[in-house]
Amino acid sequence: MTPHNDPPQKGDRRESRLPSPVRNNAVWWILGLLAVLSIAQVAVFMPAGRTITYSEFKAYVRGGQVDEVAIGADVISGQLKVQDPRGSRFSTAKVDDPKLVEELEANNVRYKGEAPNRWLPELLGWVVPIVVIVLLWNMFMRRMGGADGVMSFARSRAKFHAEDSVKVTFADVAGVDEAAQELREVVEFLKQPGKFTNLGGKIPRGVLLVGPPGTGKTLLARAVAGEAGVPFFSLSGSEFVEMFVGVGAARVRDLFAQAAAKSPCIVFIDELDALGKARVQSPMGSHEEREQTLNQLLAEMDGFDARKAIIIMAATNRPEVLDPALLRPGRFDRQVLVDKPDVRGREAILRIHVKQVKLAADVKLQVVAARTAGFAGADLANLVNEAALLAARRDKPHVELAEFDAAIDRLIAGLEKRRVLNDKERAIVAYHESGHAIVATVLPGLDPVHKVSIVARGFGALGYTMQLPLEDRYLMTRADLHHQLAVLLGGRTAEELALGEITTGAQNDLQRATDIARAMVTEYGMSDAMGAVNYDAGRRRAMFLDIPGGQERGPYAEATAQEVDAEVRRIMREAHDTARRILSEHRDDLERLTQRLLEKEVVDAEELLTLVSRPGVAPVEA
Ligand code: ADP
Ligand code: ZN
Ligand code: MG
Repeated sequence: MTPHNDPPQKGDRRESRLPSPVRNNAVWWILGLLAVLSIAQVAVFMPAGRTITYSEFKAYVRGGQVDEVAIGADVISGQLKVQDPRGSRFSTAKVDDPKLVEELEANNVRYKGEAPNRWLPELLGWVVPIVVIVLLWNMFMRRMGGADGVMSFARSRAKFHAEDSVKVTFADVAGVDEAAQELREVVEFLKQPGKFTNLGGKIPRGVLLVGPPGTGKTLLARAVAGEAGVPFFSLSGSEFVEMFVGVGAARVRDLFAQAAAKSPCIVFIDELDALGKARVQSPMGSHEEREQTLNQLLAEMDGFDARKAIIIMAATNRPEVLDPALLRPGRFDRQVLVDKPDVRGREAILRIHVKQVKLAADVKLQVVAARTAGFAGADLANLVNEAALLAARRDKPHVELAEFDAAIDRLIAGLEKRRVLNDKERAIVAYHESGHAIVATVLPGLDPVHKVSIVARGFGALGYTMQLPLEDRYLMTRADLHHQLAVLLGGRTAEELALGEITTGAQNDLQRATDIARAMVTEYGMSDAMGAVNYDAGRRRAMFLDIPGGQERGPYAEATAQEVDAEVRRIMREAHDTARRILSEHRDDLERLTQRLLEKEVVDAEELLTLVSRPGVAPVEA
């Protein structure tokens, strides 16, 4: 499925942790603490007994009623000789009175000085800033690492999940036959560990499932446990980014201790990359935590009894960031590729997920599968659900193909949202999309155009031309790629021809075209000048897993880089020429299709064929 001019990147589906709404907890802690401290202060400084005025005090002294006094810095407190119903202890604010001591002696009052009580203010001076700093640091660390902080630590639960019996089996997984085949071996082993070890065979220890998000890695791991009928312990690497160093490591130790008691069993670590990233030096505490956890995991993997039938499975969609230590023999030395499904796989996955859904007779899963090239298992599950919800919203008794189509459109391009364009912009978009559509219709060997639209979609796309493959392709000829480039450049070329100017709308087309042209030169050996050499070996792993960025180019010399660039330019120029030739020959069709698009906004495949004359086929007058 190739929508042009709109790059509906399906986002990384890994959920990000939402910040907790009670993050300002810490503020309340600080306030509470201050309140407690000030109450303590009042309590300590509050002199015992009743407070009297200084003159009353002097009167007591002169009357010989005072037994003893303690003269503090600010307060004089003391004890009366007589029993007073209001209590014999008293205190009074000190007044500058140089004669006081004389008078006390004259009246036989025992007196003592009292050192000013400074411990509490001093304590406050130390403790409050420290507490504030610690709390702020906590908040900061939680923001930084998304880790659970000191507040939630108290209620931190054991973060691994243990299931004694898993219901999932291989029947619930489809489209990943090769991976399932490899994992059957693991199932065998878990069922009868003795059979293997008796012959001296080495049992697999760690199995790493590698593949793009949503392809069913977690599902497969559970299916292995389900098939083997063994307990399933799982934890997610991302949950280990803890606040306190040592918590993660302790948890790993815990997990393995429990697993050892229940062998044979499976320990599954999801999102291994979150915890198994190559170790780096960093001032941030959370990294240190991650490393300790990782080290503990490595130690456990090395340490446990090889005859114990515990298999450690892990999943990642970013194998390239893993610490190499994880991949060493005896650790995750077995890697199973879980790739996106092909068309038959997609049909099988759809079949699994529509079991609970009432389908109308017109829904052919084969057709839906053909329209969902590039979808992973999770996308297909999502698709079925969306279609069912849509049918319910439309009050239909069954889910029809129309709902599947709408759900596909929605999943591919984000929610339908009409952006208001001015008339000139609409015309530009219409010409642009018509250009793509006409080149795609006229050139042979391309996926047929399914729909042309100038309805704006999410992600800033203003329109799209959707091509649907009739089949999954494993091989493309040089001519196919050349034609694809011409289609990609068709939008921009139509703008040039019809409007005499070019716009920014073609940026994504150009980028994709350039990527293809570059791959033709550096990877597929399709440039005669450059020969059959792969210049870009290093980039391929990242590309296979749809990882953006990565190494920009292969390890070749600057002179080679210039040659590559020249070849890329030549290929692009030729494709541009092809697009220009076709659109010039079909200038009338271009106008007609553009007008139709401006009227209807969407033109489907059938109507498109009535508007565009193909070689040897006269256009049908509409
Ligand atoms: P991953 O772990 O590779 O990101 P998951 O196993 O979490 O993918 O897949 C999420 C959901 O998508 C699964 O629970 C399942 O419903 C569906 N799914 C994904 N892949 C498949 C598949 N190959 N067959 C059937 N369902 C799948
Ligand atoms: Zn375009
Ligand atoms: Mg998963």
